Amino acid sequence: MTNQDYVQLNRTGDKMPLVGFGCWKVSKDDVENTIYAAVKAGYRLFDGACDYGNEAEVGRGLKKAIQDGLVKRQELFVVSKLWNTFHSKDHVRSAAEKQLKDWNLEYFDLYLVHFPVPLKYVDPKDKYPPSWYQPNNEDSLEFERSPMHETWREMEKLVDDGLARNIGISNFNVQSVLDLLSYCRIKPATLQVEIHPYLPQKRLVEWVQSQGIQVTAYSSFGPGSYSGMSEAGKTTQPLLSHDKIKAIADKYKVSTGQVLLRWAIERGIAVIPKSEHEERLKSNRDVFSWSLDKEDQKEIDSLSCGLRFNNPDDMGLGLPLFA
Ligand code: NAD
Repeated sequence: MTNQDYVQLNRTGDKMPLVGFGCWKVSKDDVENTIYAAVKAGYRLFDGACDYGNEAEVGRGLKKAIQDGLVKRQELFVVSKLWNTFHSKDHVRSAAEKQLKDWNLEYFDLYLVHFPVPLKYVDPKDKYPPSWYQPNNEDSLEFERSPMHETWREMEKLVDDGLARNIGISNFNVQSVLDLLSYCRIKPATLQVEIHPYLPQKRLVEWVQSQGIQVTAYSSFGPGSYSGMSEAGKTTQPLLSHDKIKAIADKYKVSTGQVLLRWAIERGIAVIPKSEHEERLKSNRDVFSWSLDKEDQKEIDSLSCGLRFNNPDDMGLGLPLFA
């Protein structure tokens, strides 16, 4: 059982909070207030991305929290991600600089390659964030001939030049991590992937952790954020109201959300739940004063069925990334 609320990153030894705040889909109108409330509730890690389209608003929320004396910059752990259309060695630096400007920050604590998918460049003047949009081809993705070793070299330079304290990856599988490890000068500090009881990714997590890379789980609550994006997201029984999770939550007198987060933390995995409700914001962080019995962990493990919700192939993009 762990009651330590952070993990330490390789190379820098930076302490990354085990519970952070996910910034995807935070309602555009109220981002600043939500972020401010999250800082107030004790969140120190904020997980953003170009693709979430709200980096400037999140940055304003943090700025206000710093100005009001709730927190100091150095107590925050800010995470952002390089989008697919900026993988070229000519675009990594300018993408990161634009994002830092949006956040109103001088450095990211952690900057991730969002997907191992190099897409044709989209000029920010034409569309920002570009999402999966491709200017010359509406029907399919256009890949750019940007090998990951060139992208990663640029990521490493961001560290050299102080724009990112740590760098990492997201949505990589074992093969792509292994390849990266064969040439990197700076090893990835973290891997961020989809993990919840329907998709525990047991061997991926164990192997990546054995390489000294910390793992962050996204979409800890399963289908919640995908109801409008894929068939599986629409039709799968939500984990937050699943009978098995409910029974365990009742046993410990906690919420189902807390059970799902604690289940990940017990494996040394960081979590980044997103919520805009004050009470949930607080309760999602309250996962260190109790622990799950072995039998309950096993019961949750039994829900494993390989069900993935964030799959570009299921969103009509014709890319079976995890095949
Ligand atoms: P999540 O699993 O955190 O679920 C969010 C949903 O659950 C929201 O609808 C929220 O209102 C609800 N919720 C939150 N706490 C609750 C509680 N205690 N009780 C009941 N409902 C609750 O969703 P997510 O947004 O898929 O993932 C979290 C974060 O992970 C994102 O915000 C983003 O930062 C990151 N992410 C990264 C990637 C990637 O490709 N790297 C992909 C998806 C998400």
